[in-house]
Amino acid sequence: MENKQENLDHLRHSCAHLLAAAVMELWPQAKRTIGPAIENGFYYDFDNLKISEDDLPKIEVKMHELAVSWNKFEKIDVNRQEAKKAFADNPYKLELIGEFSAKGENLTLYKSGNYIDLCRGGHCEHPDRQLKYFKLLSIAGAYWRGSEKNAMLTRIYGTCFPTEKELNDYLAQLEEAKKHDHRKLGKELELFMISEEVGQGLVLWLPKGNIVKEEIEQWVKVTEKQWGYQRVTTPNITKSGLYYTSGHLPYYKNDMYPPMMLEDGNEYYLKPMNCPHHHMIYKNKPRSYRDLPVRLAEYGTCYRYEASGELFGLMRVRGFSQNDAHIYCSLEQAVGEFVQVMKLHEYYYKALGITKYHLELALRDPTKAEKYHGDEAMWKLAEDLMRKAVAKMDIPMVEEIGNAAFYGPKIDFIIHSSIGRQFAISTNQIDLYMGKRFGLAYVDKEGKEQTPVIIHRAPLGSHERFIGFLIEHYGGAFPLWLAPIQMIIIPIAERHTASARHLQEDLLQNGIRAEVDGRNEPMGAKIRNATLQKVPYMGIMGDKEIEAKGLSIRTRAGVDLKMMNFHEVKSLLRDEIETKR
Ligand SMILES: [Zn+2]
Ligand SMILES: [Zn+2]
Repeated sequence: MENKQENLDHLRHSCAHLLAAAVMELWPQAKRTIGPAIENGFYYDFDNLKISEDDLPKIEVKMHELAVSWNKFEKIDVNRQEAKKAFADNPYKLELIGEFSAKGENLTLYKSGNYIDLCRGGHCEHPDRQLKYFKLLSIAGAYWRGSEKNAMLTRIYGTCFPTEKELNDYLAQLEEAKKHDHRKLGKELELFMISEEVGQGLVLWLPKGNIVKEEIEQWVKVTEKQWGYQRVTTPNITKSGLYYTSGHLPYYKNDMYPPMMLEDGNEYYLKPMNCPHHHMIYKNKPRSYRDLPVRLAEYGTCYRYEASGELFGLMRVRGFSQNDAHIYCSLEQAVGEFVQVMKLHEYYYKALGITKYHLELALRDPTKAEKYHGDEAMWKLAEDLMRKAVAKMDIPMVEEIGNAAFYGPKIDFIIHSSIGRQFAISTNQIDLYMGKRFGLAYVDKEGKEQTPVIIHRAPLGSHERFIGFLIEHYGGAFPLWLAPIQMIIIPIAERHTASARHLQEDLLQNGIRAEVDGRNEPMGAKIRNATLQKVPYMGIMGDKEIEAKGLSIRTRAGVDLKMMNFHEVKSLLRDEIETKR
């Protein structure tokens, strides 16, 4: 598996050489910088290159033309002088040469066909035979070395695969992803908006999107009550002292909105997480081992000051409501509780038709001890407990070094949407650190005071990101229980409208979100509109239907369910809503 990825990276980096060679043939004044393989493809950055996406096909043609003569990548060892001479007119390459030689690295050039580039190596063996199935995808601006202080370069993104089939499958998936983009669908289906006047990254839920949000929240409230959670509500702002106790201040300060200074002489912050508030509620009264576990849940609204360049639709925002909870338990209960948390994830995901997901265990980077709090034994124990819990489940897990929180390792659920995109939705932790910092306690069987273990969990992440995911996962065609409009009644002529309205009333009374399309439009146009709005059921009503006290039912997928009487329609919809199919 690793080898396969390495081969793919070599292939794609080789393709970046080919891209640079083609660009240099077409625009000799361009200055080359770097061209690495990345996830799903590669890029190459150029200075002094003014092109548009319309130029990409021309570059691809040139790449195919050049590839024929590239029978290998020939390694040429050079000394510093030789390297500098080869790139005398390119300040970017000269900067790299200076750095590599300062670090005592060997300098190597690679020659393929007539093209030579400064490179550390890692190429495919037979470029002429292997560099065939590639596609240039887009152009973007990128700062040299990612710093705003540097020049803005032109980045060309592309991808490359070993076979034509893999390339075509990937391109088809990209096309599908474009159609499913939650920003595009969010607008078309009137689910949410983001307004410059309100502020970047701050979501306004429109009436239809709010239905989806509230349905999910209702479901979660009922479910978590059954799973032993108690609900609490906490405020959106808090005195700074609480975050000094948690350690978020000063370390997390850059990710928080700046404080408000009040007349009482205190700084108040918008809360970036709900944990400290829940800890205060736990602390509100003495706790005994008999009270544990205590599970406190809240759809808590938090604010984080994400960099504006990082903001992305519903996926990365500055204000969000988390499906949050904290479980306070004894050390002996921790593994069992964590297993239950993972089972709750499975329960939610299965109900939503999310069948593919995996875990990512984020550990600390041992070379960066200064970034983390707590002692070695604590980190080791937290990790062991989480591993023990995961071992009881049947969910694949990968490990990531360096992604841990500052106070402990964590496990993320990464879920895969129906079009194969992956999203980190939910973060979970067995936390052996914060309990001590907040002075949380319970009295054990022997009458001794103990610190509870805290489990942080949010199976559905935040409303914002999760609904963003669901929009893409369903391509906007929500299952009936989530659909903002569940049925649209289409009267064939003006004279059928009154009966349609009458039925709508009846359906509303039965908890079914029904609308009537009473516009003076042809029936075909109304059906088209309902289909575009992805309304699950359309009920067509004319003389025949009114006579039979029924509706001709059609689904958004275009399936004709023939005429049903009102009673059948109601029970069909009620049943599908209740079972969340
Ligand atoms: Zn290379
Ligand atoms: Zn938490």
